[in-house]
Amino acid sequence: MAKVVKFGGSSLASAEQFKKAGDIIRSDESRKYVVPSAPGKRFQKDSKVTDMLYACYDLAERDCGFDEELKAIKARFQEIIDGLALSLDLQDEFALIENNFKQKAGSNYAASRGEYLNGIIMAAYLGFEFIDAATVIFFDEGGSFDADKTNRVLSARLEKCQGAVIPGFYGALPDGKVKTFSRGGSDVTGSIVAKAAKVDVYENWTDVSGFLIADPRIIDNPKGIDVITYKELRELSYMGATVLHEDAIFPVRQEGIPINIRNTNAPKDNGTWIVGSTCQKSKYVITGIAGKKGFCSVNIEKDMMNTEVGFGRKVLQAFEENGIAFEHVPSGIDTLTVYVHQDEFMHKEQKVVAGIHRLAKPDAIEIESDLALVAVVGRGMKSTRGTAGRIFSALAHANVNVKMIDQGSSELNIIIGVANEDFEAAIKAIYDIFVLTKL
Ligand code: ASP
Repeated sequence: MAKVVKFGGSSLASAEQFKKAGDIIRSDESRKYVVPSAPGKRFQKDSKVTDMLYACYDLAERDCGFDEELKAIKARFQEIIDGLALSLDLQDEFALIENNFKQKAGSNYAASRGEYLNGIIMAAYLGFEFIDAATVIFFDEGGSFDADKTNRVLSARLEKCQGAVIPGFYGALPDGKVKTFSRGGSDVTGSIVAKAAKVDVYENWTDVSGFLIADPRIIDNPKGIDVITYKELRELSYMGATVLHEDAIFPVRQEGIPINIRNTNAPKDNGTWIVGSTCQKSKYVITGIAGKKGFCSVNIEKDMMNTEVGFGRKVLQAFEENGIAFEHVPSGIDTLTVYVHQDEFMHKEQKVVAGIHRLAKPDAIEIESDLALVAVVGRGMKSTRGTAGRIFSALAHANVNVKMIDQGSSELNIIIGVANEDFEAAIKAIYDIFVLTKL
């Protein structure tokens, strides 16, 4: 049995948090591969070390002094080293970093130093081997992650070690320059390491006990999700549920390795299991609810649209020509509606409208703004009658007007369009009917 354990920034923000992580790792000898983030916030108004590094490098790049800023970063790491009573000295590392900042080594290099240094500290603390991610995680010339090369080199490297720390968030380009994933990318590294080491579980330790059925900013104390499938997670995270980096599921999903989201501050909680498929029924018919505000609908009307071959393609071409991705395209007999992100669409709306007129020659185009989409997701919906009925009667009772309904044929989700101002009420109504009243 082997596990990869990834610890997020808040789990490694101070010596006290490091000790909790250390206890977790030492309590289970299958926890062999550790992927740390950079130190995160110790309290609400604190700064993440990654943000401090970006800010510090920004000064270096503009040829401004950055002594104070670098000193503050050093202090964050020194506080951890002292709190753990380690005899580690990072002076040479910092001298090199300072020099590389002056040589303008790039903001990716700068940001990656948080994970790099935290990795060195973690390895010293655990007595594990330190593996610099720049030697085992690779990007190609175009800057895309090179999965094949990484998997080859990383698996060979990990085969040789009993316990290793591989810093998250970065790797190297073919010329050796450091490149990072997008923000939150240590989750992705954890998944890549899990695949390469062929472990049984990828544990992702953070500051919440897994996924919640709904956003706690909208629902008081929402219930947690015990088991969720990759597909369900994809739907929920796309619609705004953020615990894990979106790209983190792909490497482990291909290998059928489950992810277990756990809470460093409550290690006894089981957290959420993310799995390929399961015969475990979710406690409720729905697995989760998520949503986003800020959409526009572009409603296009044309008599006899249903008989015009290629009409949809022409309409979508107008969006494509302007670089706008669409979210949903529900259609009627003589109407077709395209849902898009308002902030993307706003500046280009007249160009898109002109494009639709030119390409599709519609009778009328109407735009509605300030809409929200709510996704009700659940593998249990497929086999349960009346789910849609319950959703819509709950919304009607909550006085929420439904503007759009979209249920994919997979029956995994039902997406509902409502006005922005009805967003919270819609989520509350759906949560109440499925989770609280369990009708
Ligand atoms: N430290 C990086 C960030 O703040 C990466 C991570 O924590 O996953 O985005």
